Amino acid sequence: MSLQGKTAVVTGSNSGIGLGVVRELARAGANVVLNSFTDSEQDHALAETIAAEFGVSARYIKADMSVAQECRDLIASAGACDILVNNAGIQHVSPIDEFPQEKWDAIISINLNSVFHTTAAALPVMRAAGWGRVVNIASAHGLTASPFKSAYVAAKHGVVGMTKTVALETAQEPITCNAVCPGYVLTPLVEAQIPDTMAEYDMDRETVIKDVMLARQPSKEFATVEQLGGTVAFLCSDSAAQITGTTLSVDGGWTAL
Ligand code: NAD
Repeated sequence: MSLQGKTAVVTGSNSGIGLGVVRELARAGANVVLNSFTDSEQDHALAETIAAEFGVSARYIKADMSVAQECRDLIASAGACDILVNNAGIQHVSPIDEFPQEKWDAIISINLNSVFHTTAAALPVMRAAGWGRVVNIASAHGLTASPFKSAYVAAKHGVVGMTKTVALETAQEPITCNAVCPGYVLTPLVEAQIPDTMAEYDMDRETVIKDVMLARQPSKEFATVEQLGGTVAFLCSDSAAQITGTTLSVDGGWTAL
């Protein structure tokens, strides 16, 4: 499979799944735009490393996905956007009656609203190029729920719904829109939840991973960022040209239960 000559914009890609996606798209030959809300030397160095490793063009563009205009400016600054991967996301875990309003607002802005703004900005660019792929990194929590994750579950269900709508709006064009729904993937986002869960349940790290985090993941294994990247690359391939408006679970059987 070759994505040579295509440009991919991956939001929230200086870490975790986003970085895994960038690496697999670059491996397939795509030029890549990395993004996060920071603007550090490491961010730009990361892009240089990707460019050198895969022989593609790679740039880092700072844009805060909680700010509507910055989402739209990211697409404009990228210059080209054949592939848009909406990946930026945050989490907060709390009972709904104690859920801080600012956490609700931040999760809805970054995990849901940004997908609207980047997609709205990218579709005209894809139409002008005559080809496009939108891949939204939703979650098993876009298809099922867990307690204490009201904002995250609401946002991810919203992303799955928006994915279907965008697919219908582009159905007769050479553009597809799909959502990838990971189960648990061991990334900094998940790593950060381990200490609190250990304290909450008075458990050691291994027990938290097996009995709490992977309780609903029948494979009892984390998915990897490489597997997520490979799934996105597949959805960008010609084989996936008629796959649109759907969800692809990478969850070790979670949503089969
Ligand atoms: P992560 O924390 O490693 O990465 C999140 C990325 O988003 C980082 O690059 C971060 O800098 C970026 N980001 C955060 N706020 C941002 C903002 N305001 N503007 C721009 N970028 C911002 O997390 P991850 O686990 O790699 O998660 C990536 C996506 O995958 C998220 O949408 C998450 O909901 C989803 N997901 C993760 C898992 C999992 O188990 N890790 C499971 C299902 C879905």
